[in-house]
Amino acid sequence: MFTPTKTILEKAHKNHYAVPHFNINNMEILQGVVQAAVKLKSPIILATSEGAIGYAGMEYLYALAKVAAETHKIPIALHLDHGKDLNIIKKAIQLGYSSVMIDASHEEFEKNIAFTRKVVQLAHRQRISVEAELGTIGGAEDLVESRKILYTNPTKAKEFVNRTGCDFLAVAIGTSHGAYKFRGKADLRQDIVEQIRKLVKVPLVLHGASGVPEKIVKEAQKYGAKLTGVYGVPDSQIKLAIQKGITKINTDTDLRLAFDAAVRKAVQARPADFDPRHILGPAREAIQKVAEQRITLFDSKGKA
Ligand SMILES: [Zn+2]
Repeated sequence: MFTPTKTILEKAHKNHYAVPHFNINNMEILQGVVQAAVKLKSPIILATSEGAIGYAGMEYLYALAKVAAETHKIPIALHLDHGKDLNIIKKAIQLGYSSVMIDASHEEFEKNIAFTRKVVQLAHRQRISVEAELGTIGGAEDLVESRKILYTNPTKAKEFVNRTGCDFLAVAIGTSHGAYKFRGKADLRQDIVEQIRKLVKVPLVLHGASGVPEKIVKEAQKYGAKLTGVYGVPDSQIKLAIQKGITKINTDTDLRLAFDAAVRKAVQARPADFDPRHILGPAREAIQKVAEQRITLFDSKGKA
């Protein structure tokens, strides 16, 4: 069955590599990322956002992830991404997720602590670990939206982790969700990761970290996608963040872009073909390719 997220991340933390968190919304995305992890012998965290759950249903996504974990020998965890609704968080805990995220980062400090503490108590009772967030990550991801980026304060981070008992901490260092991350140049506060790393013992998480690869964007544009001014986090910045102490890196946008480009291409290339397998099959392959690149970048290859 699932491997506890905490086991996967503590091993990575000790050995200085990062574990991929991939957002899944359907079977093809799940199969693509899992195939990549199996091929490269990497641990993997499958994540469902509240948006994904609204689209596919928690039971369906759970069942898909469970089959993957039972079929393959690599460590696979199932994680609730950006949990805000306490009912959804409770349901994920009951169903048997490996970890949940409580995102109360939009609240003021004391309220964030109170909400996070409550979820930690609920989850720890079932031996499920908890990711929490301090500071705000910009951009929009599913139901999570924030325009302004508030960097995580390292001293507050220490107090936050001590008082909430959370197992992993998502930090805000200038990344943002979605494909429109920066105006021209990635400006990340790696020094904040370094400071937090010194003060806080739990594994640190980087959201909004997609690379938005030019090659994929161009492919999508070639087949009709309207994407202008998209910009992601360069690979060099990801490597530096891992060096400074990031242990879990979330990827959603890159998967979406690859899926979109592949579907557009398949539909246009075969106008007389209406077999969904010929449309979504190439998308699954494109997902696998992106996932393999991320795993290699994070250095989790061969760590399963
Ligand atoms: Zn996120």
